[in-house]
Amino acid sequence: MIVTRFAPSPTGYLHIGGLRTALFSYLWAKKNGGKFVLRIEDTDKARNSQEATDAILEAFEWLGLEHDGDIIYQSQRDDIYKKYIDQLLDEGKAYKCYMSKEELTELRETQMANKERTKYNGKYRDFDGTPPEGVEAVIRIKAPLTGEIIVKDGVKGDISFQAEDILDDFVIARADGAPTYNFVVAIDDALMGINEVIRGDDHLSNTPKQMVVYEALGFEPPKFYHVPMIHNSAGKKLSKRDGATDVMAYKEMGYTPASLLNFLVRLGWSHGDQEIFSMDEMQNLFNPKDINKSASIYNTEKLDWLSAHYIKNTPNSELAKQLEQYELILTSHDKKEILLDELKDRAKTLKEMATLVKEIIETPTSYDEKAVKKAFKEGSVEILNAFGAKITSAGELHLPVDYHHLMEEVVNEMEIGFGKIGQPLRVALLGKMTGPGLDSVMSIIGKDETMLRIANAITLNSN
Ligand code: GLU
Repeated sequence: MIVTRFAPSPTGYLHIGGLRTALFSYLWAKKNGGKFVLRIEDTDKARNSQEATDAILEAFEWLGLEHDGDIIYQSQRDDIYKKYIDQLLDEGKAYKCYMSKEELTELRETQMANKERTKYNGKYRDFDGTPPEGVEAVIRIKAPLTGEIIVKDGVKGDISFQAEDILDDFVIARADGAPTYNFVVAIDDALMGINEVIRGDDHLSNTPKQMVVYEALGFEPPKFYHVPMIHNSAGKKLSKRDGATDVMAYKEMGYTPASLLNFLVRLGWSHGDQEIFSMDEMQNLFNPKDINKSASIYNTEKLDWLSAHYIKNTPNSELAKQLEQYELILTSHDKKEILLDELKDRAKTLKEMATLVKEIIETPTSYDEKAVKKAFKEGSVEILNAFGAKITSAGELHLPVDYHHLMEEVVNEMEIGFGKIGQPLRVALLGKMTGPGLDSVMSIIGKDETMLRIANAITLNSN
């Protein structure tokens, strides 16, 4: 069974780069009937916070990405880590190092002056003398100092690291007993049964160290997929300056989970030239072996295009529900279908959609000055009055076509062009020159509201 995980460090919000690897991990587990587990890497007490953890969980909930089993918190697993530290000490695979801070600094400075790689020199690796007084020992793991470490990577192929170039006996527990990052990641992945790790390639340099831990503890390493970073259009790593990186900011901007996840799945993964993927399709088609080897480029226009596509193709009842977050209660609106059909191919985001809806269903409280000037000519008030009279004397009016007929009657009887009624009526109904077809607008707001808006505009333009 394939078990994948997402292992965020709760230092802030959930970043879209993190969400992308989480999505890949989720899809791969689901596709294979496996498990996707969540581990919160909250060992850094100075930088981690409960708010950050909550923010991550909130984002997952919004997106509907469910994890399997309980969330694992590293901060609650000290006893487990301690047990493995003791085990490695007992087996002679780790040792206490008494090098003082000053000595270590001196060693580093000498290495730097000699233009050598800075690394621990193994002074206490085979030490059996009397420890120096007054130095709290750290625990170091005995790493292989020669030979190669091969990381089998599903994206990049086999990557060979020369132990000499990258390893030293790195610290696995600090002087206060706190275990270190690479040590706990390897232990947790092993104990949680994670057999496929999909993560950003910014972690690649950690992987050989984690392999050392696997080896020392006799655990089987997982299969790794190191995913190239997301870049901005200038080819640099995506940063806050390129737009929002906080997942929840996308909700704020009016994107739906479907459009954001579709956008993210295509950042670094492709299936032919297909762009639109439903969640089911993603699950069926995703395979980490198709992850691209080069960085992907973040492009907001693409997200907007996808978002517009999803809005256009969402059934109206569902769209009405999604708009509730903007305090729009349309579910029982009798002209909901006409309203949403008119607008759903005009909006890039739900937020824009909400604005467009409000522009129709709310009585205008102000009128665009230029539009008023352009639309209201001599005779406009008279035309609107004539149209108002038609509405008053008409029977039931429901559909756009009912209103259209009345407009036609006015045009024919007064022998005027359509624009002569259309322009002032548009400004009266919407306060501006743009918007959907007027017959639809009137059908949506109904007879009384239409009359009210016409009357308001007439009052405004009669003096
Ligand atoms: N906690 C790490 C991070 O948030 C991820 C660790 C991993 O995926 O191995 O960057």
